[in-house]
Amino acid sequence: MYGLMMDRPLLISDVLRFSRQNHGGVELVSTMGDGSVHRTTYGQAYGRACQLGGALRGLGVKAGDRVATLAWNDYRHFEIYFAVSGIGAICHTLNPRLFPEQLIYIINHAADRWLCVDPMFVPLVAKLAPRLPTLEGVIVLTGGDLPEVGGLRTEGYEALLEGQPEELEWPEFDERTASSLCYTSGTTGNPKGVLYSHRSTVLHSFGICLPDAAGISMRDSVLPVVPMFHVNAWGMPYACAMVGAKIVFPGPKMADGEVLHRLIVSEGVTLALGVPTIWLALLQYLETSGKDLGPLERTIVGGAACPPSMIRTFKERYGVRTLHAWGMTEMSPIGTVNTPRPEYVNLSPAEKLEKASKQGHGVFGVEMKITGDDGKELPWDGEAFGDLKVRGPWICSDYYEVEGASTSHDDDGWFATGDVATIDADGYMQIVDRTKDVIKSGGEWISSIELENIAVGYPALAEAAVIGVRHSKWTERPLLVVVLKEGVAATREEILAYFGGKVADWWVPDDVTFLDELPHTATGKVQKMELRKTFAGYVLPDDR
Ligand code: ADP
Repeated sequence: MYGLMMDRPLLISDVLRFSRQNHGGVELVSTMGDGSVHRTTYGQAYGRACQLGGALRGLGVKAGDRVATLAWNDYRHFEIYFAVSGIGAICHTLNPRLFPEQLIYIINHAADRWLCVDPMFVPLVAKLAPRLPTLEGVIVLTGGDLPEVGGLRTEGYEALLEGQPEELEWPEFDERTASSLCYTSGTTGNPKGVLYSHRSTVLHSFGICLPDAAGISMRDSVLPVVPMFHVNAWGMPYACAMVGAKIVFPGPKMADGEVLHRLIVSEGVTLALGVPTIWLALLQYLETSGKDLGPLERTIVGGAACPPSMIRTFKERYGVRTLHAWGMTEMSPIGTVNTPRPEYVNLSPAEKLEKASKQGHGVFGVEMKITGDDGKELPWDGEAFGDLKVRGPWICSDYYEVEGASTSHDDDGWFATGDVATIDADGYMQIVDRTKDVIKSGGEWISSIELENIAVGYPALAEAAVIGVRHSKWTERPLLVVVLKEGVAATREEILAYFGGKVADWWVPDDVTFLDELPHTATGKVQKMELRKTFAGYVLPDDR
């Protein structure tokens, strides 16, 4: 017997319609490429999304077509998200920092028909144009003059909107219809497309707004310092629209501590989200300028392990709560968030910090398990570690148009994350390492994440990464690669001595090398692959 409840599909267009109706005056603030500040509201954005939806149809865009974006975080990108998915087409966000060859591969693989492009990326597109046969034209995100884009048909965003009605009868369709597409960075082989649906996107938005997830509400002013081309800015545009939270889009200067600080203070930001590297830049700026974080209540730090020293600095020096979170492109991205259980209030500060440093507990909608080499499930005791597997309605069931069976998915429907983790009796998951980053020394595992977390607690270090390098006796040993803070000195010996008493002796890195900067991905994560390449032939001191 079926329940007698309405079978209304969960559609992205309904999210923006709701926010227009209920939160129409709430602001969306954008820092534009030229540094100027633009202000609009959910009400206005809805009208413009309707106009864009109409204009795209006029260009011949049909349900299921892929419309790509090469753009920073701002209001036009927000409107594109809703308009493209709203008419049943697929919003394909492209990462402008990929190598040209990768962009060409991805655009052709997705068979994108139109590309919405920020003026600053026009030269890049012009260069790639001859190799993009599926592309019918580009929409330049401007109200100004149109540049020449490698012979492609070119339309101007504002000109397209002009004259279109500010109301659109959004189509209704199956909620499982594809809504957006994001390729993972593809550390092995070609990048792979993760194809989100309306249903997964709306359910993820509900999930992420829960009080013990990001706890987003209409009282929040949210600064997503996560690019909109990376997992839909962690789902923030949809989630914020769902609850009517103000959004502050940072534009292109995401790793600039001064810009972030100014936005936080001037826009009353209560929640800011980003990868650890971004917050290192902000904390360094605060340290040198002596400024504080005014209205900021909490940060969500994820995408890479958040060092305990960062959690402590945010709390003790600036009164800001850090919620450590874990996720993946394949998971829309939220998997776990770390909010404390009520009984943790009685723990000592050191114990509290230890708990808060884990990647967090599950959010309803994500089931987790860890398995050993034999595939058998391991206990949730905080000690046993194994392959972390997940399943749920916002986790990808397969990649977009890949040949052959997916190696990431078990027959019984679980997705292997490629992370190695423990889960404690309270359900708090802790990443030990990525399967491919784990260092195997004499057959025993060393967690590169744990060593990095300790290293960045050393005051002289701005950033640190640990990779395994070949060793004739132990197979692999840890090498610590560091960047010193500006104007500060430290020796190899001083840095290594800092590990004393914090980890087992055999975990202490064998050597330290100093770099001016670490290689980062477009989203600010350290590119360990690049480091491994750079230090492929590195000979450790006791192996010389
Ligand atoms: P990419 O692999 O393209 O960088 P993702 O953003 O999907 O893309 O990366 C997901 C991976 O990032 C996870 O599988 C995990 O290894 C790592 N990760 C994400 N959040 C955390 C975290 N809080 N701590 C440690 N690792 C994390």
